[in-house]
Amino acid sequence: MPDISQLTFQDPVTRYPVITPPKQDQPEPGLDAELIPRTDRGEDSYVGTGRLQGRKALITGADSGIGAATAIAFAREGADVALSYLPEEQQDAQDVAELIERAGRRVIALPGDVADPEFCRRVVEDARNGLEGLDALVNNAGRQIFSESIEDISDEQLIGTFEVNILAQFRISRAAAPVLPPGSTIVNTTSIEAYQPNPTLLDYASTKGAINTFTKGLAQQLAPRGIRVNAVAPGPIWTPLQVSQGQPKEKLPNFGKNTPLGRAGQPTEVAPAYVFLTSSESSYVIGETLNVNGGRPTP
Ligand code: NAD
Ligand code: MG
Repeated sequence: MPDISQLTFQDPVTRYPVITPPKQDQPEPGLDAELIPRTDRGEDSYVGTGRLQGRKALITGADSGIGAATAIAFAREGADVALSYLPEEQQDAQDVAELIERAGRRVIALPGDVADPEFCRRVVEDARNGLEGLDALVNNAGRQIFSESIEDISDEQLIGTFEVNILAQFRISRAAAPVLPPGSTIVNTTSIEAYQPNPTLLDYASTKGAINTFTKGLAQQLAPRGIRVNAVAPGPIWTPLQVSQGQPKEKLPNFGKNTPLGRAGQPTEVAPAYVFLTSSESSYVIGETLNVNGGRPTP
């Protein structure tokens, strides 16, 4: 386990290498275990300082990428964690579960499809029963399928993207709201696509705009109950989302190079944003979207 002496002064340009991912393809949802190059989820570097001591968190899409890095960070900050993911991602989820146990925290595995409204209700109940309480929710599951033209987006894809990206966040938050005690937090994953929509991600970008608006509205509704709602908007982060139809293959080698930092981000660089918004130290931060995007300006 890394220790506090590793929290060193680092140049963000060179903290992680510029990656040139080879063209590759994985069936949706994609596995971290098969990604080239591998991602950094903080396994060997994230150092906790007790900021989430005793917290009980449900994280969706927690098997890989940003969700996995957040789960590892939460555990090292002292939280018990329930992992939601698709059954076909068991291998990735197992890796994350072992890292959480190695941090000395409790982990609950909750495979299932967040496009199913009944699962959205049950996942909250199972997390709460398994962790003996629930005071943090990270709505992070998402799907991204690129399409050159609006005519190529079938109803099935359109509805599927909305089901997973925004309807599930709505349904899981609705199930959680009545059981979250004052002091609890919800953090939703949105995207730079909410502000700078890529024309090949029409359905995806639309859901991310909706997530920002949902976050700002729900935040005002739940604040008087002592529940804070915020969002994180990542820029180009190297994860399995990008190789399971998230991008045209020919774009992969340049992924993230058009940021002011000149490189893609690693999942572990996003995790501290979730830690901050979940920790009580951000008690006066409500309805905010925190951009973690390598320096691309957003409104
Ligand atoms: P990822 O593939 O590692 O994570 C997405 C996860 O969503 C999957 O692991 C899967 O468990 C979950 N998921 C997808 N469909 C599901 C379903 N039907 N039921 C249950 N779970 C389902 O990729 P990531 O990039 O870490 O994505 C995490 C979040 O970050 C997503 O919301 C994504 O839109 C967002 N995001 C990513 C980037 C990026 O560049 N990687 C940028 C902005 C926003
Ligand atoms: Mg995954």
